[in-house]
Amino acid sequence: MSREKKAGNPPPAPKTGGERVLLPKQTRQMQDLVASLLDSSGNQREYLISVLLSQVSPSSLSEPSYKAVRALNSALIKQLITSLRAGRSVPLSTVLEFCKYINLFPLERPAQFHAALQTAFTHATEHTQEQYQQLEEVELLSLLAALDDVPTSVLSLEELESRSAPANSCLHIVHQFSLAKLMAQNGKLRDFTSLWLRLASDVYQQEGAEAAMFILLNWIKMLDWGNRTATKKLLLLKFGATLKNAGNLLSAILLYELFSLEDKLVSPPEKMHYARQLLKLPGILLNPQQQQHVYFFAGNYYSGMQLNIRQSIRYYQHSNYYLHRAWIHLQSLSGFLREKLPPLKYTAVSPQLERRVIDLESQMSLQNNAYVETLHANYDQIRELYRKVEELSVTDKLTGLRNRRFLSDNTHYLFQLAARHKASICFGMLDIDHFKLVNDAHGHLAGDQVLKSCARMLAKGYRRSDLIIRYGGEEFLLVFFDTNQEQFCHLMDDLRKKLAAHTFTYKGVPIRITVSIGVTCETAPCLTEKALHACVERADAAMYQAKNGGRNRVVAYQA
Ligand code: GH3
Ligand code: MG
Ligand code: MG
Repeated sequence: MSREKKAGNPPPAPKTGGERVLLPKQTRQMQDLVASLLDSSGNQREYLISVLLSQVSPSSLSEPSYKAVRALNSALIKQLITSLRAGRSVPLSTVLEFCKYINLFPLERPAQFHAALQTAFTHATEHTQEQYQQLEEVELLSLLAALDDVPTSVLSLEELESRSAPANSCLHIVHQFSLAKLMAQNGKLRDFTSLWLRLASDVYQQEGAEAAMFILLNWIKMLDWGNRTATKKLLLLKFGATLKNAGNLLSAILLYELFSLEDKLVSPPEKMHYARQLLKLPGILLNPQQQQHVYFFAGNYYSGMQLNIRQSIRYYQHSNYYLHRAWIHLQSLSGFLREKLPPLKYTAVSPQLERRVIDLESQMSLQNNAYVETLHANYDQIRELYRKVEELSVTDKLTGLRNRRFLSDNTHYLFQLAARHKASICFGMLDIDHFKLVNDAHGHLAGDQVLKSCARMLAKGYRRSDLIIRYGGEEFLLVFFDTNQEQFCHLMDDLRKKLAAHTFTYKGVPIRITVSIGVTCETAPCLTEKALHACVERADAAMYQAKNGGRNRVVAYQA
């Protein structure tokens, strides 16, 4: 940026009220004007500002539309960011240091108040009563403006100005922020724009580029963007690209603004990205309510995504803490206003305070609900995990059938049910004949494949109430309810034939098997584990009889 550069000829004033988009040529002219503005003063500055403002309304009397002001302001801020990026670097200004505290007003602890005073009046070692009062008055004004209470804050502003607007640069800036807020609310859009232009160039000259960037950021924050929030996001990102220090007030404001953009502009993962960065910042850079919002979002995000329930609960706990702090802050705000405002004015602002109380209350119930839901999800997740582990422990890995443990752990109630209905239970012990030969001839993997296919054939076509269990290596136990021995022997023989007729294949090689099945039925069903064992043993004995009888057959147990 050239310090010598002076304003060129003003561009021709636009003919209409300025609903137009800037042409490239105008953009270049604006760039030059803005660059000159930063180093200007006095009449020259006023002239440059009026030329820039003529972009939105040719007459200084008529108010431009919001639409035109949004377009002009975004173009101006964009140019200023570019110019300031090239600006001289000055050690961190006291303004930035001081403005940390604005966010936390009224300051809870005397130590904070003192630190704010110290930074605002750097030269003073002992603070006078007047300085205390000035700080409090500016603080009061800023609070009233922040509470959107226009009538009361206008009155306070007039009072403050009648006594002398603060000469101190820190207080001056806070005062100007409040003023800008009132102008925006009253639709004084020309004044709003020129105030920021003046403030940005003043601060740039007195405090350097970084402090001027702080002004721009608050300008972006305070402008009512209407439906042009996408432009706001673009500006913030452009702004972010210029930040060198990731841990100061500028990055805190920037990140919080990005974080607070509406959902359609910022996806949840992007929001979470900003939240993570915000949570790394020193605590004093965000106020309790902002902290609470960030933690609450993070808690919801983690629980919603089922990412990490424990972490989510931790975030909720932090959020809870900051909610509590926000209450305390609101209480001290109310106390401060009651003390500093005449009773009538306090009555005027109390609806705003009540609104905050309602906001906090609804935030609290939202938070409680989310917290409880997360605990539920946590509980459900653990239960689901437990169920999966249970399931795995009773499932055979190779075939996916139930295993022997399932039989002893889970079937007790089935036997009780059968006993109550006086239903019979039939047991079939199935063992593949000469299975060792399959392994020997085709390899163990081929054997596994046959076991899997065999299991699938066993599981197919039976009722849900039937139990098919891989009892041992190549042994399967079939337990059917409500079937008599004759029917069951038929079913088992059909199964035997089906398996014998089937050609299994492994890597294209055909494999045939036969099976021997031992059968036993209980009409007065066994209830105890011991009795169950006895049944299985009988089926097993019958199976050995089938083996001895020449294999590939079904034999019913005979005592
Ligand atoms: P029999 O007709 O007398 O039952 O003869 P068999 O060879 O089937 O009986 P034996 O008990 O001698 O051998 C069982 C074989 O089953 C031995 C073992 O290698 C095989 N086997 C057991 N479990 C598995 C398995 O999970 N995979 C494979 N591939 N083979 C298995
Ligand atoms: Mg066998
Ligand atoms: Mg065997």
